[in-house]
Amino acid sequence: MSVAPDLLTLTPAGLYCPHGGFHIDPVRPVERALITHGHSDHARSGHGGVMATPETLGIMAVRYGEDFAGVTEPAALGRPIRVGDIEVCFHPAGHVLGSAQISLTRGACRVVVSGDYKRQLDPTCIPFETVPCDVFVTEATFGLPVFCHPDARGEIGKLLESLSLFPERPHLVGAYSLGKAQRVIALIREAGYDDPVFLHGALERLCRFYESRGIDLGLLEPVRGLKPKELAGRIVICPPGSMADLWSRRLGDPVTAFASGWMRVRARARQRGVELPLVISDHSDWNDLQATIEETGAGEVWVTHGAEEALVHWCRTRGLDARPLHMLGYGDEGEAEPDTPAAEAPAEDGAPS
Ligand SMILES: [Zn+2]
Ligand SMILES: [Zn+2]
Repeated sequence: MSVAPDLLTLTPAGLYCPHGGFHIDPVRPVERALITHGHSDHARSGHGGVMATPETLGIMAVRYGEDFAGVTEPAALGRPIRVGDIEVCFHPAGHVLGSAQISLTRGACRVVVSGDYKRQLDPTCIPFETVPCDVFVTEATFGLPVFCHPDARGEIGKLLESLSLFPERPHLVGAYSLGKAQRVIALIREAGYDDPVFLHGALERLCRFYESRGIDLGLLEPVRGLKPKELAGRIVICPPGSMADLWSRRLGDPVTAFASGWMRVRARARQRGVELPLVISDHSDWNDLQATIEETGAGEVWVTHGAEEALVHWCRTRGLDARPLHMLGYGDEGEAEPDTPAAEAPAEDGAPS
């Protein structure tokens, strides 16, 4: 199908490397999986073996239990590993803690599978590194010209400004439980906010895991058991799925904010009843997708999930060989369509109290 059929093909379980005998981010259980990052649509339990960065392995253990795979192999960033006659290497993707792109090299040909990635700096993970390659497999979650992510620090400024305008109201911020929640908290801290940040129960374990990996999130407290009055003027972070449910009614009359790239579309914010949309995304926007494809120097681009057709079209206008993969099973948990509850993080132990 391309310059790289020995390196990577598409199977019902997902991308497969025949020479290495492994899948990348498979959507069903396989013998051997290489995993780019811990979001549940990319990292599933039940594989025979999993190779991933130590952070991603740790996140999978937090979410699925220690026995999430038969065997695990940690992969250090930037250190090539031989698998069959393929040289495999993990490179930072800048998406969430532990996220990696995976490069496969054989002879003179290199394929890079990006997983999900972003170019904006994020205090909770190592910045994206461009890896020159022949074939670049890219996501396209926000692969439409309308998506242009502003500086996240400006969005956090809006939250803190609202807090000073409405000191009597709790500020409820919807944020995905892996990556977004921790990034929002870290950005709040960077902006100089030192008060405790209150957490929905479903976010506690991953926040603790981030802290265990040296990410400073400041003072965090469970929201459990507190009365609306005690949360006046406080920041409360919860998974997006909890913003409109019974749980949030316990907070009285909160200002509702939602941190997501989808908040660029005002109609979506209105639809969800979000008062304070915060355009903070852990994915590349339209411009960064294009810039990254150009930087890799790839002559061939495969688009895995998101707005595939638009990005494929753009690639073709640039003379690149591009194809949509139409892969099923990815609806990025980390920035799922806000209207698709199934793709949102499970509420875990976030029961109201
Ligand atoms: Zn994804
Ligand atoms: Zn993701």
